[in-house]
Amino acid sequence: MKAFNIVDLHCDTLMEVYLAHHNLADCPGHINLEKLQKGGSLVQCFAVFVPTHDCAERNGVTESAYSYFTNCADAFYQQMALYPDVIRPVRCVADIEKNVAEGKLSAMLTIEDGAPVDGKIERLQEFYDKGVRMIALTWNYENSIGYPNSRDPKEHLRPLKPFGLEVIAKMDELGMIIDTSHLSEGGFWDIVEHGTKPFIASHSCCRALSDHRRNLTDRQLRALGEKGGICGVNFCDEFLELGSTVSSVENIVRHCKHIADVAGVEAVAMGSDFDGIGGELEYKDFAGFPMIVDGLSRVFTPSEVDKICHGNALRLFKDVIG
Ligand SMILES: [Zn+2]
Repeated sequence: MKAFNIVDLHCDTLMEVYLAHHNLADCPGHINLEKLQKGGSLVQCFAVFVPTHDCAERNGVTESAYSYFTNCADAFYQQMALYPDVIRPVRCVADIEKNVAEGKLSAMLTIEDGAPVDGKIERLQEFYDKGVRMIALTWNYENSIGYPNSRDPKEHLRPLKPFGLEVIAKMDELGMIIDTSHLSEGGFWDIVEHGTKPFIASHSCCRALSDHRRNLTDRQLRALGEKGGICGVNFCDEFLELGSTVSSVENIVRHCKHIADVAGVEAVAMGSDFDGIGGELEYKDFAGFPMIVDGLSRVFTPSEVDKICHGNALRLFKDVIG
């Protein structure tokens, strides 16, 4: 197990920071600084998950999506300022390389739910300037960009809104990664058709193995791979196996293998969804990542394991954010 090995495309740990007022050193969930170090983190993507609708109510959030993003991003940078000897924010691959050379962890700021954009295209530049390098266009509700995935096939095929097409063109121009996790399948195909850069599903699994609406069909996985994109396998028990209450290493490896078989090993990545998932995790938390790497090593060659753990994600970062 190498020291710097894992690029994880999605976690919800900033909720622990912003809403529960924990510091990154002592977050009680799946991720904190010590767990990242023990598990071999290379880059952790930290999503500003923006609670809206009933999710905002459940979390006692009354501020607008835009204000929530701004304040949560500030909280992220306050945390970065607390631990510069351990972890540093990154805006490009050169920042990551510098951190590796200096023995620091890397943190990338992302957004889950384009709600803070709120129909104002100029906000993308503002978010880019704040260091955001990836946006999941929707969460589980409609916003100014498009519609979420749905069990209703008609809803699921709804395309991006006209403003959503403007958003993907602007994100491609700026060098921000388009994230299709949570998006409707119709929106996904719009990105395949109109996007000019590789894109991702940061935390989704395979429909063929678990028929969950958040998972991608083989056709989607193939199209993602053909565009040079990647799918970060989500560690959620139900995404891995409908009806299961345990997130097992074996199931994570099974989904990686399926993506590799359908879309090529170049399309496989890690998207844990740590601190956003519940249930029993066989490997407990980020510190247990070596168990997952061992599981991958039983099925994939060492160079393929490296691609899945970090190589594919770094290639995509280089292609899109530079
Ligand atoms: Zn999510």
